[in-house]
Amino acid sequence: MPELPEVETIKRQLTREILGKKIKEVIIIKKKLVKEISPQIFKSKVVGKFIKEILRRGKVLIIKLEERLFLIFHLRISGSLILSNCKEDFAGVVFRLADDRLLNFCDARVFGEIRLIDDWQELPFIKAMGPEPLDLNKKQFIKLFEGKKAKVKPLLMEQKFLAGVGNIYAQESLFCAGVHPERRADKIKRGELEKIHHCLVSILKEAIKRKGTSVDTYRQINGNKGKYTPFLKVYQRENRPCLNCKTPIKRELIGGRGTYFCPHCQR
Ligand SMILES: [Zn+2]
Repeated sequence: MPELPEVETIKRQLTREILGKKIKEVIIIKKKLVKEISPQIFKSKVVGKFIKEILRRGKVLIIKLEERLFLIFHLRISGSLILSNCKEDFAGVVFRLADDRLLNFCDARVFGEIRLIDDWQELPFIKAMGPEPLDLNKKQFIKLFEGKKAKVKPLLMEQKFLAGVGNIYAQESLFCAGVHPERRADKIKRGELEKIHHCLVSILKEAIKRKGTSVDTYRQINGNKGKYTPFLKVYQRENRPCLNCKTPIKRELIGGRGTYFCPHCQR
């Protein structure tokens, strides 16, 4: 599932490629992807509009059109945005630009969502989002954990707690910080929280620099895979030796999600 670095990559690449372009045509193949508005109204409102700005909040991509209209893309499990000269496999909604290139919203499993609204900040799931991890200093980050009794790994993935972090980067950050994913958040020492903050920020920045992680269907807008995958240190490395201490990496279900960690390094 695309997380902060993947959606940020899409945002930066789309900004370079489609800013200021006009949407000439909208082709809706999978109606289920368009939420809370009929496909006809969606088309009639979007066709002819210029793209003014591309934004990201958490794992959500926002395309600002003219007249204060916003396209909100939630890629969920298997969504991707591919810019090309043809209709891509699994394209669910296709935007034809004035230069005839196609922005394909692809989703093999059709869990993704597109909305068209006039005030994106009022969307309930966006309003409820926690802070952006890259906007927090150490002190602000540590304060978030006060009084939180949840296990640290599912807590890091909770979008109301912190926006944009998912299964991959939560695990990588905890491995980097040497903190066991099942530790109760409010019992983690200040020095350890400082480490988690440092690790999370540096891993997210490095993953953005390498254009994301493609362990699943995530792709850059040109269809290429992200290049961070070989730098993952713990994710999907069950039974392989820990890169620090050679202890076999364990996998356990924590908060219902498969979680990889080193039982020796992470305490
Ligand atoms: Zn280890």
